[in-house]
Amino acid sequence: MKSVNTTCAYCGVGCGIDIDVINAGTRSITLMGTESHPANLGRLCSKGTALGDTVGLQDRLLHPEVNGRRVEWNQAITEVAGRLQSIIAEHGPDSVAFYVSGQLLTEDYYVANKLMKGFIGSANIDTNSRLCMSSSVAGHKRAFGSDTVPGCYEDLEQADLIILTGSNTAWCHPVVYQRIKAAKQKRPDLLVVVIDPRATATCDIADMHLKLASGTDGFLFNGLLDYLSKSNALDKAFVQQNTQGFEVALHAARKSAPDIQSVATNCNLQAGEIAAFYALFAATEKTVTVYSQGINQSSSGTDKVNAIINCHLATGRIGKIGQGPFSLTGQPNAMGGREVGGLANQLAAHMDFAPEDIDRVQRFWDSPRIANQPGLKAIPLFEAVAEGKIKAIWIMGTNPAVSLPNANKVVAALKNCENVIVSDCVRNTDTTALADILLPTTGWGEKDGTVTNSERRISRQRKFLSAPAEARHDWQIICDVAGKLGFGQAFDFHSPHDIFSEHAKLSGFENHSKGKRRDFNISALQSLSQSEYEALEPVQWPVNQKYPKGCKRMFQNEQFYTPSGRANFIPISAQKPQAATCSQFPFILNTGRVRDQWHTMTRTALAPQLNQHITEPFCEMHPQDAADLKLEDRQLVEIASRYGTLIVRLQITEQQQRGNLFIPMHWNRQFAAKGNIGSVVNAITDPVSGQPESKHTPVSIRPANYQWHGFVVSRKPLAIEAESYWVKIQGRSYFHYEIAGKDAVQNFPPWFKQQCRQMEGKTGEWLEYQDCTRQVFRGAVFSERGMLEAVYFLGPDHQLPDRSWVRELFDAGELTDSNRRDLLAGIPLAGGQNTGKTVCACFSVGENTIRQAIKEKCLKSIDAIGNHLQAGTNCGSCIPELKQFISSA
Ligand code: SF4
Repeated sequence: MKSVNTTCAYCGVGCGIDIDVINAGTRSITLMGTESHPANLGRLCSKGTALGDTVGLQDRLLHPEVNGRRVEWNQAITEVAGRLQSIIAEHGPDSVAFYVSGQLLTEDYYVANKLMKGFIGSANIDTNSRLCMSSSVAGHKRAFGSDTVPGCYEDLEQADLIILTGSNTAWCHPVVYQRIKAAKQKRPDLLVVVIDPRATATCDIADMHLKLASGTDGFLFNGLLDYLSKSNALDKAFVQQNTQGFEVALHAARKSAPDIQSVATNCNLQAGEIAAFYALFAATEKTVTVYSQGINQSSSGTDKVNAIINCHLATGRIGKIGQGPFSLTGQPNAMGGREVGGLANQLAAHMDFAPEDIDRVQRFWDSPRIANQPGLKAIPLFEAVAEGKIKAIWIMGTNPAVSLPNANKVVAALKNCENVIVSDCVRNTDTTALADILLPTTGWGEKDGTVTNSERRISRQRKFLSAPAEARHDWQIICDVAGKLGFGQAFDFHSPHDIFSEHAKLSGFENHSKGKRRDFNISALQSLSQSEYEALEPVQWPVNQKYPKGCKRMFQNEQFYTPSGRANFIPISAQKPQAATCSQFPFILNTGRVRDQWHTMTRTALAPQLNQHITEPFCEMHPQDAADLKLEDRQLVEIASRYGTLIVRLQITEQQQRGNLFIPMHWNRQFAAKGNIGSVVNAITDPVSGQPESKHTPVSIRPANYQWHGFVVSRKPLAIEAESYWVKIQGRSYFHYEIAGKDAVQNFPPWFKQQCRQMEGKTGEWLEYQDCTRQVFRGAVFSERGMLEAVYFLGPDHQLPDRSWVRELFDAGELTDSNRRDLLAGIPLAGGQNTGKTVCACFSVGENTIRQAIKEKCLKSIDAIGNHLQAGTNCGSCIPELKQFISSA
């Protein structure tokens, strides 16, 4: 057995994971959280726990392809370099672009950026991190003169007040949430305030929830700045000695938030609750304000970030234990991307396009030409593809055909572009479907390098499986293309260690000398030997002469990276979201993550247990809004914006505000016919950061009319795509499809039988039930050994049998006579298991099982449920739901 220590593939928490490779041939592994990793201290969430199920070779891209034909690597590299070269020769460097990803390792990212900015000579390289945290970057730079995250996770445990704003931490950064929760359990006087238009799972630990109107955080924090000033809660000495621009910022804050009542009106909150929040903030020195996509993904995201930072600067609460503004990043290496200049408006090593920075980087790289101005950010970059100005785009490890707003336009742009190069480890994504050239890359567990988490902590991602078939590392592919373009000498890297050393060296190059001092400095790591790099322990940058072992908190010396060394207050005139509702689109659509899926599901959907918590894309709506429109819970609804439409299942819940809807961001065209949120989301961006306003799109909602509804479960995948509504859910021993059709329901059974006949092993015995009057149809096919092979249930509406009972029959071996009768009856008459939707993903415990146990065994606490069913005893992500079940019982 081989044991390897690595870092999780998913969110910006950056949890350490200990892997035991049981069988490298079958790619079988076990894993657990690394006890000694400072980010997670042994914890993992449901997604991290299920990583072992995602390392198989199903749906992997294994060979290079050009125009749909498998080719040798050499030919693929020649083709990529040849196309880039001829386009650049004819149309100039800005006619090509790279679109990269926070999933890339820092070493991959470094060479991609070096090639585009330093050698091709264009800054048209942007990253999907533009969509999740570029407003934080811009806000940091405006306030601190550098993109610096001041604090660390330990501050959350040391604080007396934690404000979670625009962050469903419980689902999106679960291990950070678990740390806060544990700290609160130990020290109940640690108070938590959640600021969010929705009542999310995070509210489970909230002492106060400010359910403000969508996008109005700027008013709330401007009002807070004014309150702090009026209530004598400022740290006047800090403001005077270490900051600049306070009076102007205060004046602007007062203009948009002159008093609590005006804040209440703008935010749609009670004046009393705002006053209570302000008083709490003013009185609590040890305050951390955590923010995430709810702040960043806004047409005024950068202003909101600065409105928060202003309040921390005004009280001097920064650079100290248990104090500071704290941006949580979405992706595993969004921070690493920032360090190497993965955003179009940055140069490498936290340098900008200032003339001295351009000169410094060019001298360091000894490059023939270097981009001398920022390139196109993600949204304008794809617009330039649509307009034909960008004639070749190389997309690395991301799925913009799903994740970008106004995604239908992105799909059309990529369809029309003749040179779409995609490097990915997954064969079938919405973006690989549009590629002219496909380059197979290694994935998590096969790659080696570093990632940086939200608290500036650099950790190693280590390889524990060999690269399958012809898959190669991203950095190797980029260096080979650079070599073919004639830049071989500058890209003569033989390992991630080589690249890391250069990256570390650049971070210290002319840093602290005559030029501008830079925050990102890991020069103490530039001389690591290969074996020291292999053994590198997690460390928080800077790592330099002053901080050879890294640095937990920045700004402890109250010095910032502006020319004066003082932090800037930024005057904010708070604004409501740019896109207002209108009679055609009267609802506000908010988007976000669910607990057990990640981004566009290309990895998490491979883990059966992660697909059971929430099986279909859904739309949350307030009960009164649903009643007004006569919409029913669980019916299919069509959501439309001026960009496109999608169809999802309605979920009526008090957690949603009136006039607001919420739809998750994950489903794409591989898993749902009509569930891609990007088709509907508006492409309005923040003017400073270029980040899209994914949290606020005016939409309409109406019933989606279908003749019939149904579901199918089959041991083998079916070509179910023919139906007008379908969602695919992969289980351990079956494929489950939710379907709905517009044609006559009678057409489905013969079509289904035909499909089954074409599949080996589905030629056995059939059971069928047809009630033409009620339009109810059921059918099942068995193998010769009497095992269930496939089953369908159809009806005139969405009131269909429980899926958990049917799915469990696929694990039951040979079915009994009573099982067969149950299938025909559409109900487990013989008392079969009706476990309901999976709530605890770690131990596969369903909602019905939990509710029944609470009732029958009188379980009154989370511990009691854990003792009885194990639910909630591993990652703890399901505990907020368990609490709801207890209270509703
Ligand atoms: Fe991975 Fe979960 Fe940790 Fe995020 S919180 S890094 S998804 S284990």
